[in-house]
Amino acid sequence: MFGRTLLLLSFAALASVWVPGVQAAGPKIPVMILTGEQGGPYHAWEETTPYLKRMLEETGLFEVTVVVAPPKGGDFANFRPEWGKYKAVVGNYDAPDERWPDALKASFEAYVRNGGGFVSVHAADNAFPNWREYNLMIGVGGWRGRTEKHGPYWYVKDGKVISDTSPGPAGSHGARLPFKIRNFVRSHPVTEGLPEEWMHAADELYARMRGPGENMKVLSIAFSDPSNRGTGREEPILMAVEYGKGRVFHTVLGHDIAAMNCVGFITTFQRGTEWAATGKVTQKVPPDFPTATQVKTRPEYNPPPGWTSPGGAPRAKKQ
Ligand code: ZN
Repeated sequence: MFGRTLLLLSFAALASVWVPGVQAAGPKIPVMILTGEQGGPYHAWEETTPYLKRMLEETGLFEVTVVVAPPKGGDFANFRPEWGKYKAVVGNYDAPDERWPDALKASFEAYVRNGGGFVSVHAADNAFPNWREYNLMIGVGGWRGRTEKHGPYWYVKDGKVISDTSPGPAGSHGARLPFKIRNFVRSHPVTEGLPEEWMHAADELYARMRGPGENMKVLSIAFSDPSNRGTGREEPILMAVEYGKGRVFHTVLGHDIAAMNCVGFITTFQRGTEWAATGKVTQKVPPDFPTATQVKTRPEYNPPPGWTSPGGAPRAKKQ
């Protein structure tokens, strides 16, 4: 009897030291990263997914599960992710409309509508152009044939969010260069406490994004420079969208692992995921957050030696 009690006590003592993730604050937040397909070779989900997973895990807040969807032609009838087990789903995934059966789409809609969080990373906003509910979740999207039929073009002018219904295609970007981001709304949990302006590492600056934009708050914007095939307008970069009871954090940033190795990307992704999952942000702004003039990266996220961006050299003219 005594021996058994001692044994149990010893286990308890060990567990409190050992088990990473047993935080005083409570259990970790279960998050799914959904991946397995991207629109082309230039978005390498095999490369970016471990980066995203590590970024979430290093906060100590999240328990991350990676779910890989079947490839084109795969068995989607038996692909039934247990959405309800997670407080948020991170979409590092871009597929055409026809890839998902209706039942799968309906299950995801129900999950977010009933309070599940969703995080759309970079080209996840290219996915599913004609899935109306998905466009409502992400607010705006680009490419895959999107036009004015999918919603107006959203940008910021003179401090106001504009929705422009004039016709045109959706989605464009210039060469991957560093650019400055301005936190347009600074009272939102994701952007609160961040500097007003910060330099982002070389990345695609998405522009001409279109969509319903319902219940969408544009948090951060960037000037799309005409000298780099830009629009001359301030384009949405980070957004918060409400869909039913669910919260969606949408970042257009993160083309490749070099772009993701920006402390601004890392921080806003970590905070945006917490907000989508819980409605709050408990994470402090890190001391190495980029400034208005200086890009900041972290050595532990440096791409491996000899790495080049998939589908083209960094800063290539055509992407
Ligand atoms: Zn890209």
